[in-house]
Amino acid sequence: MFLSPPIPYGRQHITEADEQAVLATLRSDFLTQGPQVAEFERQFAEYIGVRYAVAASNGTAALHLCTLALNVQAGQRVITTPITFAASANCVRYCGGEVHFADIDPSTALIDLKAVRRLLESHPRGHFHGLIPVDFAGLPVNLEEARQLADEFGLWIIEDACHAPGGSFVDSHGQEQRCGNGQLADLAIFSFHPVKHIATGEGGMVTTNRRDLYERLLLLRTHGITKDPAHMHRPDQGGWYMEMQELGYNYRLPDMLCALGISQLQRADDGLARRRELARRYDEEFAAMPGVQLLQTSVGHAYHLYIVQVADRRGLYDFLRTKQIFAQVHYIPVHLMPYYQELGWKAGDFPHAEAYYEHCLSLPMFPTLTDAEQVYVIECVREFVSRG
Ligand SMILES: *Cc1c(COP(=O)(O)O)cnc(C)c1O
Repeated sequence: MFLSPPIPYGRQHITEADEQAVLATLRSDFLTQGPQVAEFERQFAEYIGVRYAVAASNGTAALHLCTLALNVQAGQRVITTPITFAASANCVRYCGGEVHFADIDPSTALIDLKAVRRLLESHPRGHFHGLIPVDFAGLPVNLEEARQLADEFGLWIIEDACHAPGGSFVDSHGQEQRCGNGQLADLAIFSFHPVKHIATGEGGMVTTNRRDLYERLLLLRTHGITKDPAHMHRPDQGGWYMEMQELGYNYRLPDMLCALGISQLQRADDGLARRRELARRYDEEFAAMPGVQLLQTSVGHAYHLYIVQVADRRGLYDFLRTKQIFAQVHYIPVHLMPYYQELGWKAGDFPHAEAYYEHCLSLPMFPTLTDAEQVYVIECVREFVSRG
């Protein structure tokens, strides 16, 4: 069997309703800064179960808005995981802060909160300022534990929830905590890149329950300019008057893309259910396949990625490409990137992350992957590992 076109590891799903939503906005009075923005924010906040949502140009801009709103300064130290997309760390560098890493737990590939504790305890209180945990692959970080650490050591938390819209974990009180709901983290961020659950091309969102941060995010997203007389230093200047109060950016998400986001959001639960269905099938097949190792899972897993670990990862990657299956590696550890090595990090610093990286591969995982395609992927993996 030869499949063409190739099967990617992730891809967007665009329906006619999505196309109509974008077209309607193109024909409206507003391409940007119109009514779709607030509507997308309102509906997204409702979906996540959080008080405030602020749309941004992309997930990286959302992260930068967070570090700006938290006043990250030169010399401040922030801890994140080496197994994430570089942006989770870069947002600290944008503000001149120092990125520190804690190794992963090899059973989940999430940041190991015990390693974070060891790092925090080996320095005086006040040495570190923040923590950026990542709901990697869609598996929610235990933010209850992270919050306890943060409170003990005086840290803020930005939850990088790019992989986990709709994901959740159950806290020690039996409460379901949805990723990005703002109950435990100060801020959370999402991305609407085409491989993510909700696609707007480029796009992102910050969520929070904190009114003070919400207001700063709005200001920072639009040049630091306010048009709200209630917030002005000098009100009553005339209808045209606006005030630039601090150095902000243009990190807006245009109405056309917000309209697409709203339309996509209506199918978010269906997409998540399909991802979980695909994961169950992979789990069943790979649990019984010698040579394939899986990460720990949970009922609230949102499955942005489906990851296997094999001895010969390079071999499996290359073999799958000959079969038109475009698997991918998530991630090259951030501390091994030349930019971070110039800052002093080196191979050997985080052995669990480096060992994970040697063996991991993300298989196709997206809602429109058909059953037949999935069976084909599974059989190709079986063919490779059964050769030994
Ligand atoms: C996608 C992603 C980002 C960045 O999002 P963009 O919209 O591509 O800027 C940040 N963190 C993680 C974990 C991501 O997967």
